[in-house]
Amino acid sequence: MTVAPSELATQPIGEVAPVAEGVWQLKLPVPFPLRFVSVYLVRGDDGWTLVDTGYDYPPARAAWETGAAEAGCDLALNVERIVVTHFHPDHIGAARWLGEKTGAPVCMMEREIPFARKLWGSSDAGSFAEYLGRQGMQRDLAEEAAAVMRYVLPLPEEMVPLRPTEKLAMGEGAVRIIHVPGHADNQLVLHDEARDILFAADHLLLGITPNIGLWPESQPHPLARYLESLENMRGLGADLVLPGHGPVFHDLDGRIEELISHHEERLDVMRRAISDRPKTPYEVSRLVFRGTLTEHQRCFALAETLAHLDHLVLEGRAQGVQKEEYVAYRTA
Ligand SMILES: [Zn+2]
Repeated sequence: MTVAPSELATQPIGEVAPVAEGVWQLKLPVPFPLRFVSVYLVRGDDGWTLVDTGYDYPPARAAWETGAAEAGCDLALNVERIVVTHFHPDHIGAARWLGEKTGAPVCMMEREIPFARKLWGSSDAGSFAEYLGRQGMQRDLAEEAAAVMRYVLPLPEEMVPLRPTEKLAMGEGAVRIIHVPGHADNQLVLHDEARDILFAADHLLLGITPNIGLWPESQPHPLARYLESLENMRGLGADLVLPGHGPVFHDLDGRIEELISHHEERLDVMRRAISDRPKTPYEVSRLVFRGTLTEHQRCFALAETLAHLDHLVLEGRAQGVQKEEYVAYRTA
């Protein structure tokens, strides 16, 4: 079975489209191969709620201005709150600019606030380069990659904490906050139970699969946590899924099924890659993510590989081998 994209929200990048009564999707451009991030504008009695903010650069700011106006939202007057689903720069990036422009509070999962402040408060490229080197990446490449990945990102001065299972009045009804670790440790999704709508952030995507990575700052076992939070969503009762990237879709349970089997296949592929001799995570990542990759993509490929190798160890199907300079994995 292949989950089909919706006929909703097929507008070009930079434009808005209605996806439900009072709910608009705006596709904001991003300067990397993902091409766009989808943010959502929800009209309510006391003003609009904006879900995610985009990557902060001039084309995205321009799309915010024209897109919000077209949806009927005056950014300077009508915004009640901004909800950021997780700390990645294509979601939180423009939070400071948008918070200042609208005067609205920026809300995020309570643990995500100190986490984001620490991560984006200093560049810390040196220790990230060291981490990459330990996974088998060549020294000069690790330094270049770390410089691309780690920089200072200005955040709103104040952010309002949200708690899991809390309900927020939004639009004509309310949404429940669900904590969905895996792609990011403190990611949240919003479930409109009355209208069967899921604002899915980067937890469930169609056409591409969410990056599940093990990073130096990750909680242990991200893939196990991801698979668990996917399982927990079975039978949730959402027939409109509004993701952070790629097409909107309707079959939530079908996509959960596909994502779970995708990771099972990837675990087998990674295990096969280490079956002849021990390999460093970076070597494995270059075998399973082929082709020309930017430094940015090499880091994501490595983190995704690490998450799968870590999961194989957790399942007793692989073993880590600690060397002085690097780590390697072999089958168990
Ligand atoms: Zn993300």
